[in-house]
Amino acid sequence: MKKVFHFDSPTEKYHADACVVSCFDARFELATRKFMKKRGVLMADPLRLAGGAKVFASPADESAREFALNQVQTSMRLHGTNLVILMVHSDCSAYGGLATFDRDQEREAIHHESELRRAGDYLTEKIPSIEINCYFLRFTGVWAVDDLE
Ligand SMILES: [Zn+2]
Repeated sequence: MKKVFHFDSPTEKYHADACVVSCFDARFELATRKFMKKRGVLMADPLRLAGGAKVFASPADESAREFALNQVQTSMRLHGTNLVILMVHSDCSAYGGLATFDRDQEREAIHHESELRRAGDYLTEKIPSIEINCYFLRFTGVWAVDDLE
């Protein structure tokens, strides 16, 4: 191999402030990064999958859900993570986009809140000790789901 790029990455081991489960939709990458920083999540183990928290709420197949659960548990084991941040976003293609909700943003928001709650319930059942925060990303900002359980 030959070196093609120079950059000094940190060599220290770290404690992850959170394992962040979100969609790989690039439109929300910057908002997610800025929001995580504001929220105090500086070192995160990102788990980026089509649909984000959908993998726990309404997975295409059970093996995908088990894989994602294993990744969260690995983050806990390797980096001491005790917080999982679950995210879904507006106009997510994994849900068929906003068109699925007849372009009704309120209907979409209600649906995605229930998805986040279902994802949170699943993780709480599998990992009772874990803390969970849920967020819905829209094109104008971030909404929090409160009172989980
Ligand atoms: Zn998406």
